[in-house]
Amino acid sequence: MTTLKDQFGRGIEYLRISVTDRCNFRCLYCMPLEGLEWLPKKDILTYEEITEIVAQLAPLGLRRLRISGGEPTLRPELPRLIAMLHSVDGIEDIALSTNGVRLPEMSESLHRAGLDRVNISADSLRPERIASIARRRLPFDPVQSALAAQRAGLGPIKINMVVMRGINDDEAVDFARLTLDHPWHVRFIELMPVGEMRELTWDHVVPSDELLSRLESVSPLLPVAGPARGNGPATYYAFPGAAGTVGVITPMSHTYCGSCNRVRLTADGRLRTCLFGDHEVNLRDPLRAGDDLVPLYVRALAEKPKEHNLLQMQVGGLRALSQVGG
Ligand code: SAM
Ligand code: SF4
Repeated sequence: MTTLKDQFGRGIEYLRISVTDRCNFRCLYCMPLEGLEWLPKKDILTYEEITEIVAQLAPLGLRRLRISGGEPTLRPELPRLIAMLHSVDGIEDIALSTNGVRLPEMSESLHRAGLDRVNISADSLRPERIASIARRRLPFDPVQSALAAQRAGLGPIKINMVVMRGINDDEAVDFARLTLDHPWHVRFIELMPVGEMRELTWDHVVPSDELLSRLESVSPLLPVAGPARGNGPATYYAFPGAAGTVGVITPMSHTYCGSCNRVRLTADGRLRTCLFGDHEVNLRDPLRAGDDLVPLYVRALAEKPKEHNLLQMQVGGLRALSQVGG
């Protein structure tokens, strides 16, 4: 199968699908405490509509899907969607991004439905701090969620931590140490100036180079290839003899737009060709009108921007990632 390329020759094979804009957390860097103006149900794509979009785009080289949100595990019957997507010809890999709260009870049914693997977002290992960053007190132990997903066969497990200076950066070493005994990929994400972020500033960003040198105070880090599947924009390292790896995702200090292979579908059916910026194409209404989506997709890729310009943006100047399927 040939993969459709954008105007800069980047082959697009990866679609991130937001299935809801709602969430059971209110992470400091993502969602305001009072929530957002939620999309009305009629505006949100049904599972049948999402599957139809994927079925129309798969012949153009789409091979990998990630289900995201908001918090995707809140959408009722999520395993039903996974099973529908799993049966689309050409789809080789389906991953889920989740805050992990519901993984202990859902991992097995998700795996049975055809989910390949999960990324778990976790910004602290301490219950009190989890509650203060997520601004919700829910039973959530990141290690137990990762173990449940691993037992269900949803590996390689990736754990993503958004590092914030003075808020949780003192736990980066504890997260990195998890990789000594577990075959997990712990990735440190640079905080991005999107969403509300009322309580955060540029001073909270910890550049990945600084973070890596802090980790090296524990033990030297060796550059490694990273996980075989879903090896996206992260750069990976490992402590000598460790079961897993640590990675850094650096949207702020080093961009990786040149090798971008992805587009996004919002919960209300807009195709976004760049995570940042406001270029989006409505696929939902043409789909509901019975139109062919392929020409719209081809045109959207032809207009996919070369790169984002996050460094020049005002803090809080962009839609929250929960609204665009981060
Ligand atoms: N609720 C799911 C979760 O938390 O994994 C999926 C959606 S969430 C928007 C996807 C990812 O975006 C999470 O890993 C989250 O940490 C990250 N994210 C959200 N806002 C961010 C920001 N301002 N800077 C960096 N990462 C952010
Ligand atoms: Fe919810 Fe994920 Fe945003 Fe946190 S990062 S508020 S878990 S959507």
